[in-house]
Amino acid sequence: MKMTEIKHHLNDQLLIGYSAGSLPEAFSLIVATHISLCDECRARLAEFDAVGGQVMMQSQTAEMSEDGLAETLARIAGGAQAPAPTARRSGVFPRPLQGYVQGDVEAVKWKRVGGGVRQMMLSTDGQATARLLYIPAGVAVPDHGHRGTELTLVLQGAFEDETDHFGRGDIEIADEDLNHQPVAAHGADCICLAVTDAPLRFSGIIPRIAQRFMQI
Ligand code: ZN
Ligand code: ZN
Repeated sequence: MKMTEIKHHLNDQLLIGYSAGSLPEAFSLIVATHISLCDECRARLAEFDAVGGQVMMQSQTAEMSEDGLAETLARIAGGAQAPAPTARRSGVFPRPLQGYVQGDVEAVKWKRVGGGVRQMMLSTDGQATARLLYIPAGVAVPDHGHRGTELTLVLQGAFEDETDHFGRGDIEIADEDLNHQPVAAHGADCICLAVTDAPLRFSGIIPRIAQRFMQI
């Protein structure tokens, strides 16, 4: 499978936040995991890193002229290189995630949360939560809205919701405006990494009760 098949990417806000080191740990984890699967976002991150580094250096150099800045930016643009190809690994989880699970998918300590869905909470700082979700093929996650931002990265299989189809490497960025019901596609069980910075809003009473058990 070629990496260019990824069609849902990180936005600039997330890449800049990651480059600046200002994201909650859970968000940094999902950005790093997507970047290990996605050449396109890795290249965009390298540009933000380069510009950020130049800006920091220049702010320490008083005599930097406007011409100098233009030259620097031109050099960055001209010098942008294709990122080094990532080593092919056979695992399901990219390396940043393996650090949190202490292994690949077989090391996950799943907990059942109902309807065949399983999850494992990952330990990150308290500003946001990260979890792995296992959704059997054809199974739906309860319909819900969002109070803050929810990012969902597909690691195995695929899911669909009202907006589109998401396959391995695709990331869905959901906010207050989106109400959706993700359904795992037929064919393979779906494994996702999901992070949220606020609890989800479920519409039905049963999912609200389940929410307590799922800690979401
Ligand atoms: Zn991407
Ligand atoms: Zn959602």
